[in-house]
Amino acid sequence: MYQISRSIYRELEAEIVEGRRWGDGPTNHARVLRACEAAVHRLATDRHYFARPSRTLFNDIRTYFPMSAQLHVYSVVDRYMTFAADYLASRPTAVMELTGHKLECRATTRKGTPCQRMPLARNGYCPSHQHLAETEEVLAAA
Ligand SMILES: [Zn+2]
Repeated sequence: MYQISRSIYRELEAEIVEGRRWGDGPTNHARVLRACEAAVHRLATDRHYFARPSRTLFNDIRTYFPMSAQLHVYSVVDRYMTFAADYLASRPTAVMELTGHKLECRATTRKGTPCQRMPLARNGYCPSHQHLAETEEVLAAA
């Protein structure tokens, strides 16, 4: 899964503009790689609150590329982020394999503690909390 961030980076690497460096700060190459890793990590761990992954990552890294490369950068980012999102949605156990953390339902129990039941991949709520997903859809549609 984290190979995805590497793949994005590799496809874009040649087009990164390396501007003048000030002191020992990270290079633009390092910044792009880090942004890709952060976006894939967030997609894996916080998918339901990460509304527009492709656009977010693109906005994070676009300044490191020339104007002429922007369209290509967006299409590469979108292709991999869409692939990653589909992969995670189709494999509920993938997140745990990746992060070592068990997937947990997004709901809070009546006692105020996080619900620890296994969520459904489709919306991140366990079977007993499916009504919350429906409420969210209604709110989103309003
Ligand atoms: Zn639950």
